[in-house]
Amino acid sequence: MQQHDASTLHYDFRLEVDGVLKSWAVPKGPSTDPRERRLAIPTEDHPLDYADFEGVIPEGQYGAGTVVVWDRGTYENVTEKDGEIRPMAEALKQGHALFRLDGEKISGGYALQRIETGEDESWLLVKMKDDAADARRKPTSTEPQSVLTGRDLGEVAADDGDAEASS
Ligand code: MN
Repeated sequence: MQQHDASTLHYDFRLEVDGVLKSWAVPKGPSTDPRERRLAIPTEDHPLDYADFEGVIPEGQYGAGTVVVWDRGTYENVTEKDGEIRPMAEALKQGHALFRLDGEKISGGYALQRIETGEDESWLLVKMKDDAADARRKPTSTEPQSVLTGRDLGEVAADDGDAEASS
């Protein structure tokens, strides 16, 4: 999950599926409160190695702005169909996926549910009720630092923005 200060601030939620990163832009980021439903707008697939990208995308390029690796980890697909695990690619195609995240900040069950198809395709990212659910935790506010470097958006912009300008 990357925090991305582009034209509007959002979190890019990415899941490795069949060799690519399926991606959604989540304006408010993930919640740990099962009552919160977070809008997630699908974006283009990204290559796997993009998951570790942190830095400043220069003006004029797609996604211009500062990127922080906000969280990372593994996930387990737990989407079931007729008592069996439905492959993730198929679950996403059907518009409903359940998975357990094992990140440094975000963990436990989440659901992605498609609520709109076509040009305005949109999804909801919702915490499932489990031990990792916590209505009081607000990790997007209280834990802004990169899990790679400990820097926040401003620090990455200052460090890498300067490097960009002087190169
Ligand atoms: Mn983005």
